[in-house]
Amino acid sequence: MNKRIFLSSPHMSGNELKYIEKVFQSNYIAPLGEYVNKFEQSIKDNTGAKYALALSSATAAIHLALRILGVKQGDDVLASTFTFIGSVSPILYLGANPVFIDSDKQTWNISPKLLKKYLLKCEKKPKALILTHLYGMSADIEKVVDICKFHGIYLIEDAAESLGATFKDKHTGTFGDFGVYSFNGNKILTTSGGGILVSDNEDWINKAMFYSTQAREDEMHYEHIEYGYNYRMSNVLAAIGVAQMEVLQDRVNKKRKIFNCYKEYLTDIKEITFMPELEYSRGNRWLSTVTFSKTDYKDVIKALEGINVESRPLWKPMHMQKLFKSCNTYLDGTSEELFLNGLCLASSTTMSKEDVKDICKVIKNVCNR
Ligand SMILES: *Cc1c(COP(=O)(O)O)cnc(C)c1O
Repeated sequence: MNKRIFLSSPHMSGNELKYIEKVFQSNYIAPLGEYVNKFEQSIKDNTGAKYALALSSATAAIHLALRILGVKQGDDVLASTFTFIGSVSPILYLGANPVFIDSDKQTWNISPKLLKKYLLKCEKKPKALILTHLYGMSADIEKVVDICKFHGIYLIEDAAESLGATFKDKHTGTFGDFGVYSFNGNKILTTSGGGILVSDNEDWINKAMFYSTQAREDEMHYEHIEYGYNYRMSNVLAAIGVAQMEVLQDRVNKKRKIFNCYKEYLTDIKEITFMPELEYSRGNRWLSTVTFSKTDYKDVIKALEGINVESRPLWKPMHMQKLFKSCNTYLDGTSEELFLNGLCLASSTTMSKEDVKDICKVIKNVCNR
């Protein structure tokens, strides 16, 4: 194995350059143009979301969602603690306070039980919840939707990692008031960088469009009553997105195949637990992730480096980050335990079955030492 194998490397469909060329021929390399509309349409067709807005990143999409839902300085916003920083830093952009809720063992995603308990006892009602579908696997979303409805709390689904994943055949990202998908370089599909905001509320998506293009009032000259952002996606990147969306199902199937290979080859290593898949859901298995009950994952990382294969610890929960040391939390230790024992395995769709076999051999050697 000479060529390095990454966790999740970009994987082109083959049509990207063709579409980019069309963008150049039309001279619409400036923001907006035909491919932005096409990209948004493909997201709507694929996920079933009614409205979609192409943006510069998923982080920007979450920022806009929070602003439109009226989150202001001093408000509380609930969030999955087991997530990536881009999911929650927008809470800070608005001067609001994150409150971190722990995961459950059945999904590794937010625990509906803890969420419910927190909401029954908390004195200050939070404005919204940002729920992450981690590693492309659906959270127990139906229960969470019910809890949010009961308490009158807005729900933003961070589906940055879970494009193509479903729960009861409905796409993750389409259960909440807003959903976001990421097209960053490491995700299942990529535009090199980018994000999509979806909602079934047309007014909100129109508002998001307004804020994402500097909040220009509808006048001939430049008129401003509110402040906005420069968050829109360029037509060039959207052309890449259109080509990538053509292979979404292939990529999901390949990621799931890679996971099944890992599961098969590691089945006799009893100390390994795989990230579960919730009943009635179908994840995209963006990254194959495991925990070890005896072996130190750092030894596995080192051994895999020896054959030039990337692997990484699971996301470090937000409540364990210095940045959030003074934040409110509602925890039972689940995410902390996952972080201390867990590992993301190489899951690039460019990998072969042989690659997975070789990786498993190395893992087995470390576990059987
Ligand atoms: C990648 C990621 C984001 C941020 O996406 P960007 O498009 O890079 O801003 C947010 N949340 C999660 C869970 C992610 O994995």
